[in-house]
Amino acid sequence: MTHFTGTAKSIRLIGGAQVLDFINTTNGRRPGSPLKVMEERLTSFQFFFEWALHASLISAQEFAEYKAMVFESPISYQPDLDAIIAFRECLYAVFYPLSLRQVAADEALQQINLNFQQGAAWRVLRTVDGTPAWAWKTCTNAQELTAMLIGRLAIEATQLLVSGDLRALKCCTATDCDWIFLDISKNKLRKWCQMSVCGSREKLSRLKTQETRREVHSDGSDLYRLGDVTTL
Ligand SMILES: [Zn+2]
Repeated sequence: MTHFTGTAKSIRLIGGAQVLDFINTTNGRRPGSPLKVMEERLTSFQFFFEWALHASLISAQEFAEYKAMVFESPISYQPDLDAIIAFRECLYAVFYPLSLRQVAADEALQQINLNFQQGAAWRVLRTVDGTPAWAWKTCTNAQELTAMLIGRLAIEATQLLVSGDLRALKCCTATDCDWIFLDISKNKLRKWCQMSVCGSREKLSRLKTQETRREVHSDGSDLYRLGDVTTL
């Protein structure tokens, strides 16, 4: 696994849904990926908490409320981080095949279902600005905060899974990129997670391949061999 040294804010949010941006916090687990190691972004629970603010999974007010608990506690958050990553991979196991128009495994769907049910227990109806609205119960420790945030992601995942938006689900066509996104472009021809990242990289590598071919063709002996083969 490579050690990510960037900040949470530097992680691109291009999925079109929080749950997809959450899936896109790592790279290298796609079947057949040429990447030799996982590029894990969520290297600590504190980093995940910062990412949650960056991705608007928590509000600035919640971040301020839980900040001391997350950053100043001496306890190990490894079990919480493990649970968060395990849930992310469960989401990937569902959304990746769906992005290829394949069927998602029922076992992974049931895991989302379970987390959805647990997440619903954290929601509460309250009057907000004079009208009833969904709010969230207050967490008193990191385990509760983990359960609530996984619950939020699970609720969003279930909403996306049964919505028409799922038809726009795609995965980046760069073989070394795992990222998944909703293609809401007008012509529905988006191929890459981001044109300026994987798109440019692919175009550059295509150019290099063309240049290599041109070099081979300018070599007299190679052209001869090519001619020999075509006359067989
Ligand atoms: Zn990509």
